[in-house]
Amino acid sequence: MSEAQEKPLIGTMDGLSKPKKPQSYYDAIKQKFTEERDLRLDYRPEGTQQYTSDLTGSFARYETDPYGGEIVPREPINDTVECLFIGGGFSALLTSARLREYGVESIRIVERGADVGGTWYWNRYPGVACDVISYDYLPLLDEMDYVPKHHYARGPEILAHCQAIARRYNLYELAVFQTTVTSTIWNEEEEMWQLTTDRGDHMKARFVICANGTLSKPKLSKIKGMESFTGHSFHTSRWDYDYTREDLSGLEDKVVGIIGTGATAVQAIPGLGASSKELYVFQRTPSSIDIRDDWPTDPNWARKLKPGWQAKRRERAMRGPRLTEEQRAARAAMSREEKIQRQENANIDYMMRIHKRIDEVVKDKATANALKPWYMFMCKRPCFHNDYLPTFNRPNVHLVDTHGKGITEITAKGPVFDGTQYELDVLIYATGFEVQKTGIYNQIRGENGLDLNDKYSSGIRTLLGIHSQGYPNLFIMGGYQASFQFNLTDMLQSQGDHIAACIDYVRRHDYQSLDVTSEAEEWWVQEVIHHRGKTTRNQDCTPGYYNFEGEFQRRQDGNYNGGFPKYVTHLKEVRAQMAENFVFTKERINQ
Ligand code: NDP
Repeated sequence: MSEAQEKPLIGTMDGLSKPKKPQSYYDAIKQKFTEERDLRLDYRPEGTQQYTSDLTGSFARYETDPYGGEIVPREPINDTVECLFIGGGFSALLTSARLREYGVESIRIVERGADVGGTWYWNRYPGVACDVISYDYLPLLDEMDYVPKHHYARGPEILAHCQAIARRYNLYELAVFQTTVTSTIWNEEEEMWQLTTDRGDHMKARFVICANGTLSKPKLSKIKGMESFTGHSFHTSRWDYDYTREDLSGLEDKVVGIIGTGATAVQAIPGLGASSKELYVFQRTPSSIDIRDDWPTDPNWARKLKPGWQAKRRERAMRGPRLTEEQRAARAAMSREEKIQRQENANIDYMMRIHKRIDEVVKDKATANALKPWYMFMCKRPCFHNDYLPTFNRPNVHLVDTHGKGITEITAKGPVFDGTQYELDVLIYATGFEVQKTGIYNQIRGENGLDLNDKYSSGIRTLLGIHSQGYPNLFIMGGYQASFQFNLTDMLQSQGDHIAACIDYVRRHDYQSLDVTSEAEEWWVQEVIHHRGKTTRNQDCTPGYYNFEGEFQRRQDGNYNGGFPKYVTHLKEVRAQMAENFVFTKERINQ
């Protein structure tokens, strides 16, 4: 690989620079993007219904925890805590850290897994890593006095960081693991939340934070005959190391298949290719693969970091790149249409560089062509890996490109495509996760017993994606109507800071509860609708979970698209006017 190639392509993408080719060139590629999208929409008109995340019955094993060991027996818990987190991933850890700073002592995490970590607890597939720069992605680095070992952190380091946060903030003391919350019901008289779990618990909490993650429930593509497969199979988020062995040596004599080529598969496939006797990769839509410029952290750089360095990095990132006077003037002179066209053209230039790199790396021309993504950058989660594309040069690795159709049949022996039966020893589902729509996986009933799902049935209604009227002292993290951020922990940290500050406000004022006003909620719903009007991504993109598999969505049932810096400003503004945006119980009693 040449030096120029080692530079990540993404760094060279300038949204508003002059197009390098005639407009007809870009229009032709855009047309091809549309055709490829339409092909996929035609193949799977079921939209999100093509998947199931109801992993019960014969599918239950795809969700069983392979990491936590036997369920540890314990007596049901019947007690009261002040703050209860549903889920023990970064959302809970970040917010708890802030709550501790405010002096909150009674904090409980209720977690389905056997430890904290969330995503990083469940996703332990070979090669698991984060492709957001570790100094930005790993939260609380200042507080934890920790500098990640590499520019991009591996999964085990991130999980260890989660555990270190839980120890540092004393979160293990009240935590309850191997436990799933089944209902969260507001008791209006006591002004407390009452929670039940699958372990027979009846817990009470004054504040409940839904911290159960955006992509935490594994899903499977509904494929005809999948139950009949007699080989071994598992989902990537429940990796069966008993079968593969830790170093994957268990696959040396195995014919392995993997369904899916999203961000998870891209990280798992190089290890599988190097370890399996034969590997079949069943692809429906290729991911875009850019270079991953990783390096070990320079100890001299790390030593020189001053206290507060990560917070300063975040502030700088929030400000965005500095433009010259000339660039600012050029942008101001452009019409909105011209800006959109230039951005689209730059996006296409970037995707064509991704194509060029595939041609340079992958030797077999047909395989190289099949690996080329035909959609705009960011229609799907972009991937970064140096070993993924070269893996397809291995003689034991076979790409089965289904060109948008996907695997639609599995027999006792394995998947069938285009009349060919692929006989496998093991089939790995890299088919992703259900996208949480409402921030909830359990029944949440607020004032007047109204189920949050029922409230949302005519459209999601929240303030900032966090508060929903009629659900006092309930906070939702990472859900819709919040901002989308490539570095998710940035978003979660901002929400965690906000939630902790709200709870502190209620405690300092001796209120029992806070609930958002209907006016504030309505304002935010309109903000979300207004900013979603700006994007055409949903309509133009190839189907995937980013755009609800191409299904029609109400404009309010998605993320806030006004930009992350603006979202953070709104969080601050809402907090600056607590009395206008929320009602508190004392006020209600006095009325
Ligand atoms: P995805 O939902 O992104 O991918 C699922 C894959 O399964 C897609 O390639 C999909 O194809 C394919 N698929 C589904 N059904 C079939 C079928 N019947 N036949 C063939 N293929 C099929 O899930 P992932 O687990 O890969 O990633 C989920 C998210 O997790 C990422 O988007 C990212 O946000 C996060 N992640 C982040 C990482 C990081 O580095 N930070 C690493 C790994 C994951 P199609 O595209 O056609 O729908």
